[in-house]
Amino acid sequence: MSTDPTPDFGSVDALEVPPVSLEAEASALDADDPLKHHRAAFVGAETPLVYFDGNSLGRPPRATVDRLSRFVTDEWGGRLIRGWDESWMQLPFTIGDRIGALALGAASGQTLIGDSTTVLLYKLLRAALDAQMTADPRRVEIVVGRDDFPTDRYLVEGIAAERGARVVWVDVDTSRGVDAELLGAAVTDRTAVVLLSHVSYRSGYLADGAALTRIAHDAGALVLWDLCHSAGSVPVELDAWGADLAVGCTYKYLNGGPGSPAFAYVAERHQRTLTQPVQGWMGAADVFSMGPVYRPADGMRRFLSGTPPVLAMIAMQDTLDLIEEAGIGAVRAKSVALTEFTVRVADGILSPLGVRLASPRDSAERGGHVTLSHPAMRAVTAHLWEGDVIPDYRDPHGLRIGLSPLSTSFAETLTGLRAVADAVRAER
Ligand SMILES: *Cc1c(COP(=O)(O)O)cnc(C)c1O
Repeated sequence: MSTDPTPDFGSVDALEVPPVSLEAEASALDADDPLKHHRAAFVGAETPLVYFDGNSLGRPPRATVDRLSRFVTDEWGGRLIRGWDESWMQLPFTIGDRIGALALGAASGQTLIGDSTTVLLYKLLRAALDAQMTADPRRVEIVVGRDDFPTDRYLVEGIAAERGARVVWVDVDTSRGVDAELLGAAVTDRTAVVLLSHVSYRSGYLADGAALTRIAHDAGALVLWDLCHSAGSVPVELDAWGADLAVGCTYKYLNGGPGSPAFAYVAERHQRTLTQPVQGWMGAADVFSMGPVYRPADGMRRFLSGTPPVLAMIAMQDTLDLIEEAGIGAVRAKSVALTEFTVRVADGILSPLGVRLASPRDSAERGGHVTLSHPAMRAVTAHLWEGDVIPDYRDPHGLRIGLSPLSTSFAETLTGLRAVADAVRAER
């Protein structure tokens, strides 16, 4: 019998060794966690509250309290209008490049911070569709998953109506997402653009970015990746995939704060040929010449429209610092360990109560959250929130357990899942 203080629980022989309690397993995993020190870097991590919704709104880093306060007094208050020349005008690009380098596999000059995810998706989808329809008038189809996030689906419908394009809906199993087989069957020589979620917001299904990009390209289509549930949790390799375009949230795993603006990636090869529809002065070639007609800037600046939301984009830099320190590979390793632990605990204490896993079982096909399904989950969620255990609810019957690798501990995860079991029992 092993006396190793860090046993491999996967190989424990149940006949020789008494079962290890889940609590002992959680504390061993926490003790061995190379990222455990990062948890203390977040506001509220010292309280007993269990937070399972960092995939919807990440916790604030403690450093952000000071950063925001210093910004108001020193930069906004001290530099006033001079701040624009001194640094703020460049901030969408300097922060964008950092996200690109640390989390997206994107070389510099291809990522910016812009508007909301919805608005950036609109701008890039329209730009891509227009370019494709101009190059080949038969390419009039936009391919999108029927279970994609609502804003993505609504935008596709609106843009199709605006441009006389057609929507090709890909039907998916709601506990998975669009995979290679489904995409291969949907794209043709009429496909203009494919809009794909890298990690499905509902199931957590993790798409194969390289394979799906290749399938779209083989059909002559452009790909726009929605990275909302990937950025800061799952490594992305946009340049290596040969991706065309991408957009993602910064208030989820990047902890930029409520409503912090999104990032957009445009592969360098497309930057001079795509034109986006919201032609504002900040995207013009010479912003302060205030010229008579719009002429888009050559590089990424053409994807900006109006004045950058500086105050809203500064907080995310603190999480970028943490990711830089940890490395996105270690962040993903912790994320996988957290979701695997969640699935094991769910198998042990929730499945006997009729709770079903509505996420992929294989971590290679799973992003940073786990969705658990039971008919009582809507009521269970309300019950849990009252007790300071905070997951979120998504139809049909799905409880999403969001696990932020930098701020979530294994003990916190187990406490929360035991509370889920109690709440399911109470609602039955
Ligand atoms: C969170 C999320 C959005 C949100 O868009 P906003 O414009 O920030 O409201 C869009 N798409 C996906 C896939 C998301 O998960």
